Amino acid sequence: MTQGNILLADDNRLVVKITSAILEDADYSVSIAWDGLEAINKVYAENPDLVILDVEMPKINGYQVCRLLKDDELTRDIPVIMLTGRDQQSDMFWGMKTGADAYVTKGFKPDQLLEVIKEQVAAGLARRGEQGRREIPTRLLEESGVFSRVIDLLDSKLFESTILNELGSLAGLSQDYRETIHEVLEIISRVVGNVVGVVLMFEEEDMVVHLNRPTGQDAVDCIKQKAFALADDYGWEKGKADRVEVTVFGEEDLSEGDGERSYSCAHIPLTAQKKVIGLLALYQYTSPSFVREAGLILALVQNQVTIVIDNARLYEAARQLAITDGLTKIYNHRFFQELFEKEYKRSDRYNTIFSLIMLDIDLFKKVNDTYGHLCGDEILKGLANLIKGCLRSMDVVARYGGEEFAILLPETNGTEAYQTAERIRRAVEGYTFMGTEQGLKVTVSQGVATYPSEGVHERADIIAKADEALYEAKEGGRNKVVYHE
Ligand code: GH3
Ligand code: MG
Ligand code: MG
Repeated sequence: MTQGNILLADDNRLVVKITSAILEDADYSVSIAWDGLEAINKVYAENPDLVILDVEMPKINGYQVCRLLKDDELTRDIPVIMLTGRDQQSDMFWGMKTGADAYVTKGFKPDQLLEVIKEQVAAGLARRGEQGRREIPTRLLEESGVFSRVIDLLDSKLFESTILNELGSLAGLSQDYRETIHEVLEIISRVVGNVVGVVLMFEEEDMVVHLNRPTGQDAVDCIKQKAFALADDYGWEKGKADRVEVTVFGEEDLSEGDGERSYSCAHIPLTAQKKVIGLLALYQYTSPSFVREAGLILALVQNQVTIVIDNARLYEAARQLAITDGLTKIYNHRFFQELFEKEYKRSDRYNTIFSLIMLDIDLFKKVNDTYGHLCGDEILKGLANLIKGCLRSMDVVARYGGEEFAILLPETNGTEAYQTAERIRRAVEGYTFMGTEQGLKVTVSQGVATYPSEGVHERADIIAKADEALYEAKEGGRNKVVYHE
């Protein structure tokens, strides 16, 4: 009884002769193919238990034959052994990359070869299921058909490595993390077509929606809800939905009246350290092939996407930590100096003006002494928020020192800055801070300086001038704003 049918593909008569003798001696029945094309045809025609492929063969080489066989569901489970005269690491590498099951160099000892064959035949039969060998419909491939399959295959491999490359290159860019997510979705949608892409990060409570087609606000809302439901399935707490910050990219395309429509959805979890940290979903108006095709792409890019997004997230977190004041969550002194320096240079280069407000809490030591440090901390936190609420989006507030804040107002003259400071002063005066049961009241003093202005020519002048004005405000009785034109 035969131990199995083996297809041996090699163009070297001597190798074929020796190898088939060894195989026949061991009770295998052997069929021969003299080039790659014949090998493929015979695999489909004969459905062997194992294929031995020479790497270098006429017409189609062994790697390509292997790729083709491993790419087809019908032939995928047939074990492939690559046979080559070279014992090079790169051959081994490519052999395995094409999906070969084992690799034997031509200097093999008969027993070595037979052992590998026995192993692989058994493994192949196990893969091909209880029912034994699957029937392959006899379909002899035309020569041109095989070639076009090889080209298709190479094409799709090239395509795959191009997307992976593009995604990988994002990892090197230390850009904003939402921007990174946007880029990821951009790349994916270039491949899968008209989609709405969503990335929802569970811990950050952060959602990036990417539109690459005109989409109505109501459609975006509908997709948002769908993404929440999906996240729920991945173990996210739906209760967080209110807190999620949604960034929509491409909203300039937001058009009217898309309405609620039925969407097909393809999605993957983003997993770091075995934990689901988010999800990526693509939505498209119902199209039956979309889910399958987009699913394949997502499966392909899943690892890469997770790495890129997680890196960007960690980078962002580290950056935030380095520039943020721990107590008040606004920028710290060091980062303020950076922003200040930038604004100063920008002002010189473009001939624009800007203003600086120095703010100090009045008699804060007394607050601490009376109510305790924790109470004082509550006031500092509350004050940071209160100030932010009085500013435009381009203005920046930072914790300059203990109970001192610095506010940078780009493209703002002294009079406007004074008005802003007054607005802050009044807001603080009228506000009741948390900390004790009946609440706490404080006031602030502020000094304003503008660059460029009289006597303010250098970087250091600006801060000195604002400090002077602040000192005057204190001297003048506190709860005041001082600005000298
Ligand atoms: P003035 O109106 O002249 O500014 O009086 P003041 O008491 O605010 O000024 P002083 O500079 O003498 O005291 C500042 C106080 O701010 C001292 C310190 O206890 C308090 N302080 C500084 N940093 C913190 C902080 O992080 N938390 C708390 N609770 N208090 C702080
Ligand atoms: Mg003070
Ligand atoms: Mg002080």
